[in-house]
Amino acid sequence: MSEDTHDYVFKVILAGESGVGKSSILRRYCQDRFNLDERFTVGIEFRTRTMQIDTSKIKAQIWDTAGNERFRALTPMYFRGAHGAILVYDITNHQSFRNIQYWLDTILDHTNLSGIVILLIGNKCDLDKIRTVPTDEARMYAEERGLIFLETSAKDSTNIEIAFNVLLKKIYKEER
Ligand code: GDP
Ligand code: MG
Repeated sequence: MSEDTHDYVFKVILAGESGVGKSSILRRYCQDRFNLDERFTVGIEFRTRTMQIDTSKIKAQIWDTAGNERFRALTPMYFRGAHGAILVYDITNHQSFRNIQYWLDTILDHTNLSGIVILLIGNKCDLDKIRTVPTDEARMYAEERGLIFLETSAKDSTNIEIAFNVLLKKIYKEER
């Protein structure tokens, strides 16, 4: 597939506490068909991956916080024009789950697209033995707020492809 032409560009932003695995998820997803890893403006970077949905070529432009989350200093530019957001917590760190509400509020404050599609990810599901966030607790939270929910592992690849596919397909449906 040519990377130069595409029918749609969807901007997706990653959010969540430092250390939950945002950059690892992005690296895992973009590793195979890696297009671009560009740094511009201090502390913000994105990667892209192109995929086909129906007959359309979709370019996903996925923004990573590059460590800024610690200072909660993400600029409006980070959020502007986002079609989708991936909220990530670590299933072994309950505090990172409780902080999801902060990120959800921040995203809703900064995006003017009322229809932004939001995916909640409980990452590090390979560490099930030391889990502190029960799957049902997170699933219920997501259902109450209309978020898509999945548990993933960037380490062993569990649900990474599925997560992006579900998110991008939902954005595609709503864009048309
Ligand atoms: P970020 O700060 O949210 O971008 O998190 P990073 O991607 O930098 O990951 C933080 C740490 O968690 C690193 O040591 C990663 O190797 C580790 N990590 C990320 N994803 C997973 C995962 O799915 N399973 C496990 N066991 N470790 C992970
Ligand atoms: Mg990171």
